Amino acid sequence: MPGKLPKQASLSSSSSSPDQRIKLLIDYGSLVEVDKNLAIKLYLRSGREMLRMANMYCDDGHFESAFILYYKFITLFVEKLREHPDYRSAPPSELSDFKRKVKKVFPIAEEIKLKLKDRYAEEEKIFCQEQMRLAEERAAEEEARRAALEQQEREDKELAKRLQEEEEEEVRSEQDRKYLQLREKEEERLREEEEKKRNQNVPAAAGVAAFGGAAAAAAAAAATAASGSSTLPASQGLDGGHPAISFPAAADGSALPPPPSYSQYLNAIAQERPQVPDRSLKKNLGKQEPSAPAPEPPSIDRTSKPSIDHHMSLGQFGGQAHGQLRSVVVPAALMSQFLTAAESNTLKESETMGILCGKMSQGCFSITSLFIPQQRGGHDSCDMENEEELIFYQDEHNLITLGWIHTHPTQTAFLSSVDLHSHFPWQKMMPEAIAIVCSPKFQETGIFKLTDHGLDVIGSCREKGFHPHNKNPPLFEDCMHVQVTETGGVILEDRRK
Ligand SMILES: [Zn+2]
Ligand SMILES: [Zn+2]
Repeated sequence: MPGKLPKQASLSSSSSSPDQRIKLLIDYGSLVEVDKNLAIKLYLRSGREMLRMANMYCDDGHFESAFILYYKFITLFVEKLREHPDYRSAPPSELSDFKRKVKKVFPIAEEIKLKLKDRYAEEEKIFCQEQMRLAEERAAEEEARRAALEQQEREDKELAKRLQEEEEEEVRSEQDRKYLQLREKEEERLREEEEKKRNQNVPAAAGVAAFGGAAAAAAAAAATAASGSSTLPASQGLDGGHPAISFPAAADGSALPPPPSYSQYLNAIAQERPQVPDRSLKKNLGKQEPSAPAPEPPSIDRTSKPSIDHHMSLGQFGGQAHGQLRSVVVPAALMSQFLTAAESNTLKESETMGILCGKMSQGCFSITSLFIPQQRGGHDSCDMENEEELIFYQDEHNLITLGWIHTHPTQTAFLSSVDLHSHFPWQKMMPEAIAIVCSPKFQETGIFKLTDHGLDVIGSCREKGFHPHNKNPPLFEDCMHVQVTETGGVILEDRRK
């Protein structure tokens, strides 16, 4: 096996520990069930395919998949197959051959396990670094957001303060202006009154001296009485220039009476002062709502198990979405090559069959060889003889079985009840296995597989030979995972001669 691990995307999450991930592979590799109703030779066949397939995964760099299959192989031959009723009657040479194989597989599986552990540890390290980097990024973002908020708050405060100062300044100037107007008017009025009085008193000026003492005393008394009421209610002061504001007459006009109290005036108009815009409102307008965190990607449920246990199925480790089959590439020339080889039988209205062999590369299967075994063909069925030849051939060329092909010389292309039973072990072994049926008479070709329901029905049917099955729901269907390509052909290995 290659020394360094190619870049295959890991099939389990880097967030799990390397030990957990290895355990997951082992758990899956241990999921091997032995159906006591299936012939033991099918399990022996299955075991060989598993090994070849595992080797292929290794070559293709799919080490997780290879590990699972090696582990399945070990589980099958060390533990599970011993429970089969026919285990003791299986050919001893074959069983000892498998024992030798198991011995060889143990160290290989162990080596892959160590390599995977190293890789998982490396991925865990990268994962942790990535997590740390993300955490730092988040912290930096949070800090920037907080700083921006603080800055916004500071600006809001400054703006509010400035608005308030401007407002107060405006109010103050307005007050000053009004006050001055008021005072000027009042002074003007007093001056006018003073003037009037002086003019009235001019002719009688001499007489004042005659009554001097009494008149002066009366004037002084009036002045004292009036000074007590010189403080006006603030509301009256607002009415600029209103005559209600009266000052006591000065005795000589040189000293003006005290002006209305300025502080009272300010208090009075303070009630009318417009309010500064609500700072918190402004703040809310300017503030950007923190953007909602990006939603977590939906997690994929990898816990569901396949309903059918295919011996070579990798389930969640198959590198495909659950339930999805890997592609099988079929060269179109395969069918014509096979029909040519089958022609003499077809003329005799006798069936011909062949085994589809192939390889896996980059996660999909290709049919590369057509193995036509020694066989006994009839009008409506065909059986392989000397299966060992196929095993040797596949071992020699490191090929796996991808299905089979046969002719229907007189009928259309479909799977008969015998065909369904013949196909079952292939598909049971490998979910991608296909059955190609060629009908030269009707010029039809069908590429079929059993439905899940068909696998259940055929797997539990004990009938032999041609017999009816309930066909609703259908037991087989057209393959959707097959790609027929116009390029290339297959190596024909005809063992009938
Ligand atoms: Zn058939
Ligand atoms: Zn049946």
